[in-house]
Amino acid sequence: MVGAVTTFSANRSYAEAMDAADELAPFRDRFVRNDRDVIYLDGNSLGPLPVRTQARIADVVDQEWGVGLVGSWDKWIGLPMEAGDRVGEHLVGAAAGQVLVCDSVTINLYKLAVSVLDAQPGRDVIVTDDDNFPTDRYVLEGVAAQRNCELRLIHSDIDEGISEQALAAALDARTALVSLSHVSYRSSALADMPRLTDLVHSCGALMLWDVCHAVGAVPVELDAAGADLAVGCTYKYVNAGPGAPAFLYVREELQPRLRQPIWGWFSQRDQFAMGPRYDPEPGIASFLTGTQNIVGTVAVEEGARLLGEAGLQPIRSKSMALTSYLIELADEWLVPLGFAIASPRDATRRGGHVTLRHDEAQLISQALIRENVVVDYRVPDRIRIAPAALTNSFADVWDALDKVREITSAKSYAGVPVEPPVS
Ligand SMILES: *Cc1c(COP(=O)(O)O)cnc(C)c1O
Repeated sequence: MVGAVTTFSANRSYAEAMDAADELAPFRDRFVRNDRDVIYLDGNSLGPLPVRTQARIADVVDQEWGVGLVGSWDKWIGLPMEAGDRVGEHLVGAAAGQVLVCDSVTINLYKLAVSVLDAQPGRDVIVTDDDNFPTDRYVLEGVAAQRNCELRLIHSDIDEGISEQALAAALDARTALVSLSHVSYRSSALADMPRLTDLVHSCGALMLWDVCHAVGAVPVELDAAGADLAVGCTYKYVNAGPGAPAFLYVREELQPRLRQPIWGWFSQRDQFAMGPRYDPEPGIASFLTGTQNIVGTVAVEEGARLLGEAGLQPIRSKSMALTSYLIELADEWLVPLGFAIASPRDATRRGGHVTLRHDEAQLISQALIRENVVVDYRVPDRIRIAPAALTNSFADVWDALDKVREITSAKSYAGVPVEPPVS
């Protein structure tokens, strides 16, 4: 793809040449763009709206609901499994029948963690890391407290990510479950999924990956990595919109051994027989709970199709080129102004965003947003910048970093009101 130009230069013409050679550039028009002055670099928090999704949602609301009313349930009832197969096929390397689009990441994590403890009666330890995403740590803390289990928190460096040595030291014959994030939400550090999964299997525990910050930016290969379980969200790089349902993955061989704890009627065999006792469907449908959000689920299906059309390999190549370019410009312009790179420098060890550290990170990120460069701030002193392969250009990266340079060198961030960060 971005062949031709190879030697980095901090001149804007370099970015323009990279954009001219970018085969993914036409995908920019597949997304709604209202304000062309805004440089949106926060798609790892909330992805932008695909044009096709806007039309599909309008159709589901106007026709399927507005006209079809309750009769539309015939086409809606299988959607969590159908959308799951699309996510499996295009985004997470999972053969059909192993991915389900439903509920939130938080709820799915709970369902899977509890089902693993139930299936491993002799084991009473859950392992995660102290820099894992907050909801993951809280859910696992809650499950451990409710089930009288031990939660072992290994230490991760907040820039470097998970340490294989620390993980190895936390594993033993009591370990039931290990749950880790594939890409760190703060630093973007990318964990070696096949290697860490093998390590966890060597002590007989099951491995649950949270792929929220990877899916849609990094090719995830759950089947090939031998992952047991996974959860992921769809409103970040999958562009399915705020509150769109998450997905869960359960490896086929494991499905008969696991029973999730929320026994609802949507996982009941012969649901409309309204039978007296819970008797779940076999397979991935047994992980359903109650009525699902249909409007959100179609947006997941469209988001997965759009990424699949572009292809995860071209997306990953461009994403690595964008983030590497960002780091090169930051080294040249921003490190002399007190910034440090707080993400791995090796592109193969990094997800889709780059994190910069600066003492005034919070004020600088607020000032950037005021100047139409949308990034986000994370405690304690980090700015996350996420150039998305389908919606951002090399010129966006140049313009955004130029703005960071301007604001920081003029100290024009001082006096900007501080607003609380959102998810
Ligand atoms: C965004 C994110 C979540 C969000 O969980 P929700 O239940 O959707 O709020 C969880 N884990 C990670 C790693 C995330 O990046």
